[in-house]
Amino acid sequence: MADPRGFLKYHREGPTRRPVAERLQDWREVYLSFPHDKLRVQATRCMDCGIPFCHEGCPLGNLIPEWNDLVRRDRFAAASERLHATNNFPEFTGRLCPAPCEGSCVLGIGDDPVLIKQVELELADWTRGRGLEPVLASGVTGKSVAVVGSGPAGLACAQQLTRAGHHVVVYERAEHPGGLLRYGVPEFKLEKHVIDQRIEQMRAEGTEFRTAVAVGATPEGPVAGAAASGASVFSTAELRAGFDAVVLATGSTRPRDLPVAGRDLAGVHFAMEFLRGANLASEGTIARAPITAAGKRVVIIGGGDTGADCLGTVHRQGALEVHQLEILPEPPASRAEDNPWPTWPVILRSSAAHEEGGQRRYSLSTSALVADEHGAVRGLRAEEVAFVDEDGRRVLRKVEGRSLELDCDLVLLALGFLGPEHHGIVDELGCVRTERGNLAVDGQYMTSVPGVFACGDAARGQSLVVWAIAEGRSAAAGVDRYLARSSELPAPLAPNSVALT
Ligand SMILES: Cc1cc2nc3c(=O)[nH]c(=O)nc-3n(C[C@H](O)[C@H](O)[C@H](O)COP(=O)(O)OP(=O)(O)OC[C@H]3O[C@@H](n4cnc5c(N)ncnc54)[C@H](O)[C@@H]3O)c2cc1C
Ligand code: SF4
Repeated sequence: MADPRGFLKYHREGPTRRPVAERLQDWREVYLSFPHDKLRVQATRCMDCGIPFCHEGCPLGNLIPEWNDLVRRDRFAAASERLHATNNFPEFTGRLCPAPCEGSCVLGIGDDPVLIKQVELELADWTRGRGLEPVLASGVTGKSVAVVGSGPAGLACAQQLTRAGHHVVVYERAEHPGGLLRYGVPEFKLEKHVIDQRIEQMRAEGTEFRTAVAVGATPEGPVAGAAASGASVFSTAELRAGFDAVVLATGSTRPRDLPVAGRDLAGVHFAMEFLRGANLASEGTIARAPITAAGKRVVIIGGGDTGADCLGTVHRQGALEVHQLEILPEPPASRAEDNPWPTWPVILRSSAAHEEGGQRRYSLSTSALVADEHGAVRGLRAEEVAFVDEDGRRVLRKVEGRSLELDCDLVLLALGFLGPEHHGIVDELGCVRTERGNLAVDGQYMTSVPGVFACGDAARGQSLVVWAIAEGRSAAAGVDRYLARSSELPAPLAPNSVALT
């Protein structure tokens, strides 16, 4: 039973970031760990609501009031067990999740919400500090599953299926497993030894990893999850013949482009081309990042997570000056009237990277990139835009006479992703796609091809780590049911579940 007056006694107090001047000199994580006495105070603020809306906000259905109360009572081992009951990788979500649970916490109606994400992170790291013991299957089923893609969706699916007794092989075309966790998200948000420790646990449980192996034909053009140089190819036909079931967890890797004059100039890159190179250099796979911001004036187009990751990276590389442009207007500081609790708060969010420098500018649509005499970018033109009502719809339109020009030597396009690649394994298998180009799945996460399942960004479209893990767990239940006719694996989501909006 929680302390019913905890929230009256204590205020929300979050973790501390390392000083900006210090952290810009390295790639290590930004946040200092949170003392456990303070953590217990924060967990005490949880009221253990009869109807805990935090559960509704979390796609994994995390048992938040249960572990908050166990932490309050200093019962970390029991709390860790409850945490891992619904989440394979709380060390990833604890670091990366925007915490929709906090957006729907009941305490947030009239006060600051419970510090749920920090309790999750400290519990996850407390567990990691004691070693991640393998959880071994109680028996083997004799069935085999290939999981293509090793991002959070593929990893969660693989871990669940291995623990259910199936023989699982994960194919990954990149150098190391992890998907966007490894080659998108920079070290300063998630140090990669955290991923390695979980992969070691999975190996000890029996999951096999085959990295630098691309399944099916290689895609045309740049993609977010590029193959390792010298990756070998495993044909789709061999994959089908070798396994009882296949899971496509191949991500949403097609980047949205910017169709303006000057797009092809030297110095204009997709964010993931830039971040992947920076992460490969940071892990030591290559000597130096192929694209660097050192001594350059940088413009990042796109105000989301990917843009913020570019921002922190260019500062660590030694950029001279940075602008981050967003086409939408600046969000309000607190919830607008049409954005009530418990929906996701659409408010101005500043990540650690924003504290480190650079200028954020809103309501700007890039109209052209300007060349120097050598064919490299030297500037960017943008027009101010605003929402107007047209036939009952809100549309963005140019504001006449309001434009701006910025000098720059490096432009990074962080405009989001359009869905999974089609050329290659998806077309070779003949999987039907949704109108948006994602992989269509039924209620068990099976695609139109019997025995072929899909989960994560490949099925949902560009999303979040927490949704990827929840989809991986749910797809595992579908695969297990397909192979064994019934399943006791939990399925936190139906494929068409949506966030509280
Ligand atoms: C820069 C960036 C930062 C982000 N930051 C956050 C954040 O802070 N918080 C958050 O919640 N979300 C964040 N996201 C979103 C989050 O990373 C994704 O939603 C999540 O990783 C999706 O997981 P996934 O397993 O579906 O796919 P991915 O992580 O994309 O993994 C797919 C994997 O499949 C592999 N693959 C694809 N095709 C093949 C093939 N044919 N053969 C073999 N392997 C293949 C790819 O190489 C890749 O490793 C971020 C995204 C980006 C791009
Ligand atoms: S909604 Fe907030 S206060 Fe209520 S149980 Fe969840 S975390 Fe605790």
